[in-house]
Amino acid sequence: MPPPSYCGRFAPSPTGPLHFGSLVTALASYLEARKRGGTWLVRIEDLDPLRESPEATTAILNGLQCPGLIHDGDIRYQSTRLALYRQYAEQLVEHGKAYYCACSRKELADHHGHHPWDCRNGAPLPSDRPWAIRFALTDEEALWQDRILGAQHQTLRAGFDDPVIIRKEGFIAYQLAVVVDDIDQGITEVVRGSDLLEATAQQRQICQALGGTPPQWAHIPVIVNDQGAKLSKQNHAPALDDSQPCQNLWRALVALGQQPPETLLRGTLQSILDWALTNWSMARISRTSMTDSLHPLS
Ligand code: GLU
Repeated sequence: MPPPSYCGRFAPSPTGPLHFGSLVTALASYLEARKRGGTWLVRIEDLDPLRESPEATTAILNGLQCPGLIHDGDIRYQSTRLALYRQYAEQLVEHGKAYYCACSRKELADHHGHHPWDCRNGAPLPSDRPWAIRFALTDEEALWQDRILGAQHQTLRAGFDDPVIIRKEGFIAYQLAVVVDDIDQGITEVVRGSDLLEATAQQRQICQALGGTPPQWAHIPVIVNDQGAKLSKQNHAPALDDSQPCQNLWRALVALGQQPPETLLRGTLQSILDWALTNWSMARISRTSMTDSLHPLS
């Protein structure tokens, strides 16, 4: 059988508008998909109505469209698929790969990963406590090759590290939905920020438990500002100025180590995108942190 054709995705959680770090990630995943002649999907991971908003979704989609990062197919909204994720969680419970859990994170830490309510062994749940569903990890020294960061090693401890897949408030957890959709959409490679590196080994086990083939991963090092602080929504990184798409793209290419010539800044958006596609090489991305230099522009 021929290998499946390349399919990449950008999957933001709409907690705020696109900032520079997320544009860099989106651009890298877009260029890699286009360079490989593949498909590039956009999926909005809107699972937490308390932290997310439709305005942020609109701002993110606008932030992708302005610099010309045009996706294939329809945008997928995870909020429209909640019943399905729940079904998968229940299926994992039926197969003994997930369990109802009434323990808090603190209780688990205090008991060194053992469940004080014995939930992992199927003991009846106390009726007065809310419960979550956790995925039952297998002890593993997980080894894999990241396309940017190289050889990776993570230790997974059954019980201790078991991730929540349905939260106590009833919300679906990112760890479940991301894997369900990566399988369902036939994603072959995930290009994303290295803040999600830690989630990867767990996602690989969840993917295998759901009968999927894990994708390849390429984690983009965190972007820091001139003072060395991480750029993220949590750190209130400024939203991108969508009226400057050429400068934004050019800066993102610089951060990705692609060395775009400054003359590109005097051309059109299309000429920057064409240059980026012709010259794109993932091998030029730094393995350590990348700086947004806010280059003085002519
Ligand atoms: N939705 C996640 C976020 O915005 C990213 C998911 C992923 O790329 O795996 O942080």
